[in-house]
Amino acid sequence: MTTRPPKSGIKVVIVGAGFGGLTAAIECHRQGHSVSIYENFPELKTLGDIISFGANAGRIYTRWADGAIARKLRSLSIDLTSYGFRIHKYDTGEVVYHQITPPQNPETPVFNGHRGELHEVVFNYARDDLKIPIHLGQLVEEYFEDEDRAGIVLKSGEKVYADLVIGADGVRSKARELVLGYVDKPKSSGYAVWRAWFPNTDMIADPRTKEFCENGDTFNGWIGPDVHFLFSTIKGGKDCCWVLTHRDEHDIDESWSFPGKLEDVYKVLEGWDPICKAIVEKTPSLVDWKLVYRDPLPTWVSKHARILLLGDAAHPFLPTSAQGATQAMEDGVTIAVCLKRVAGRKEDIPAAVRVHQEIRYERVKLVQKTGESTRDRWHTTDWKKVKEDPKSIAFPREDWIHQFDAEKHAEEVFDELFKKVTQPESVESGESMLPPTGPVAVAV
Ligand SMILES: Cc1cc2nc3c(=O)[nH]c(=O)nc-3n(C[C@H](O)[C@H](O)[C@H](O)COP(=O)(O)OP(=O)(O)OC[C@H]3O[C@@H](n4cnc5c(N)ncnc54)[C@H](O)[C@@H]3O)c2cc1C
Repeated sequence: MTTRPPKSGIKVVIVGAGFGGLTAAIECHRQGHSVSIYENFPELKTLGDIISFGANAGRIYTRWADGAIARKLRSLSIDLTSYGFRIHKYDTGEVVYHQITPPQNPETPVFNGHRGELHEVVFNYARDDLKIPIHLGQLVEEYFEDEDRAGIVLKSGEKVYADLVIGADGVRSKARELVLGYVDKPKSSGYAVWRAWFPNTDMIADPRTKEFCENGDTFNGWIGPDVHFLFSTIKGGKDCCWVLTHRDEHDIDESWSFPGKLEDVYKVLEGWDPICKAIVEKTPSLVDWKLVYRDPLPTWVSKHARILLLGDAAHPFLPTSAQGATQAMEDGVTIAVCLKRVAGRKEDIPAAVRVHQEIRYERVKLVQKTGESTRDRWHTTDWKKVKEDPKSIAFPREDWIHQFDAEKHAEEVFDELFKKVTQPESVESGESMLPPTGPVAVAV
């Protein structure tokens, strides 16, 4: 049975009940803080499609409810232990590399599943089991702070105060405006993703595609010039899901989803392995998700360090990193540890928040870059090189990312970084609190 540390007396208000906000709330609760969430959506809906959680998120989930949450997530997630990941050349369709899925480590499981279904498990755990107050249908319109506290203003005009406000309000963050003092406009990344999730009925009826749904879960990728197409079947082949990343120069305001058109997808797939079109044809509806880019923000922490940006609000990720939600979770774990370390010393909360940023900033930046490097590697594939070294096209699973224990790391480096933040003159410059980032280790 997991025991909670004594109550810290620290009050945290979180805006946003995505994976970032929920994890921050659950971890704050775990570390003894008093926490509540304000969320704009009026009710829980199973929105989205495929989402990935790396082993570094699995480690966090495993610590909740003595492993019960991880077990629930597993039953909803893809199981590739027998099928692995098959990478095809886009035109010939030949499998150029078969990446074996390592057996699941019970301490660090990996989860890939429907965002809405996995989100529901985490949401219900926070609200029903831990009794964390989650106020739905509450649009936060303003943030404010002074040296001693911060707060939010709801649409109703009501003000809510806390020792720390966490803005986990996603890519279109309102909290970011207060923290930065200006509106940070996103840039087009030059890419968009068409994405779809649907039942296997039509796939099973077609002799060309039924093999993907008859023998358990599958995962296949077709890599082409500046395009990649990933297709998976989940829950024993019952559900199908694909994502296709392609060039898109549309100048749009923000990363968001629009309805997509199958004819546009067919155009991109001209000259491709015909099985790709046979899969896409079965799609009842799809989403056109424009990928925007942001330069790393200069800071995630407000002037008085009473407001902190977390998750996508601080650092949006490209899907090719498969780490966006996981890094949001690591943020939540880290801030909860930092606050615990100043329990009973409310005057030190701003320093603890700055330590959080010290711990997280460089790691997040490095992980963010992997989204670009994997995309670029796939989109400019040298097929001659792949023939000589098939592993070079594998999806990277670097140990410094996936084997990381955010909680342990925060506990280990807190004291030294607290000194750096509160007495900068006493710490030699150039010291790095980063975890080691060794050469890329590809799981084969
Ligand atoms: C509806 C939805 C569907 C998604 N689908 C996918 C998917 O299929 N695959 C994938 O990889 N990623 C998806 N994502 C993104 C993914 O969940 C995030 O990139 C990642 O989990 C990091 O989460 P986050 O908590 O930082 O931000 P988010 O998940 O974006 O959560 C932010 C939350 O803040 C709330 N919010 C925003 N502004 C306010 C405000 N002013 N007041 C109160 N609440 C506010 C939003 O309603 C949202 O619930 C989706 C996100 C959303 C919101």
